[in-house]
Amino acid sequence: MSSPPYKRILLKLSGEVLMGSGQYGIDPATTARIASEIGEARAMGVEICVVVGGGNIFRGLAAAAKGFDRANADYMGMLATVMNALAVQNALEAIGVDTRVQSAIPMPSVCEPYIRRRATRHMEKGRVVVFAAGTGNPFFTTDTAAALRAAEMGCDALFKGTSVDGVYTADPKRDAEARRFEAVSFSRVLADDLKVMDASAIALCRDNNIPIIVFNIREPSNFARVLRGEGVSTIVREAA
Ligand code: UDP
Repeated sequence: MSSPPYKRILLKLSGEVLMGSGQYGIDPATTARIASEIGEARAMGVEICVVVGGGNIFRGLAAAAKGFDRANADYMGMLATVMNALAVQNALEAIGVDTRVQSAIPMPSVCEPYIRRRATRHMEKGRVVVFAAGTGNPFFTTDTAAALRAAEMGCDALFKGTSVDGVYTADPKRDAEARRFEAVSFSRVLADDLKVMDASAIALCRDNNIPIIVFNIREPSNFARVLRGEGVSTIVREAA
């Protein structure tokens, strides 16, 4: 079995993957399965940090469309990511993986505040660090937070675990001609507005030369395969 080519990675989990087959909230069985896959990757010797989204609980933009003040709604969305982070920590610790949650919005009775050097130290000690509350700023997304933390933590790659198995030329659910890229450049993603992450996240990864690997995390054991370069995925990098 080949070992992964990455020493340190960031895993971006959208809130939706924590719902499992449900329509809302956190499914404990799915969260436990994802935790065991993170534990498996950790056991392969890869240092891992995680950014969790909040879309399974609250999305600022959707609430703003219904009349909420946008900044206020975004703060609510960030709080949702803290709940998800605690759920992921809970599941990881249940299987003996040391985990620390760090929040971009300080809430010291709940978790650590985000301190870059401290997070680095946790990772060096083999702990998984889960970053919560996005960037701490409204009008951003957790994808941008993932790109930012990946750059700050010196990650070799950003793994985006979603419900699709890569980046397509068009929406595969609507267009029978849509095909999946094995590799695609940052510039093409931006120029063709391909649905990977928002433009600020893509630009941050491009400027810091951090490849993005998009893969389906709903498929059991896929994370380990993709980490070893064996599974189905799309890599977004400078020269594709
Ligand atoms: N959010 C924010 N600033 C950030 C990250 C997130 O305001 O830096 C808010 C925003 O309202 C967003 C919500 O938190 O809708 C949940 O995050 P996101 O939609 O990125 O989660 P995902 O789609 O990954 O589940």
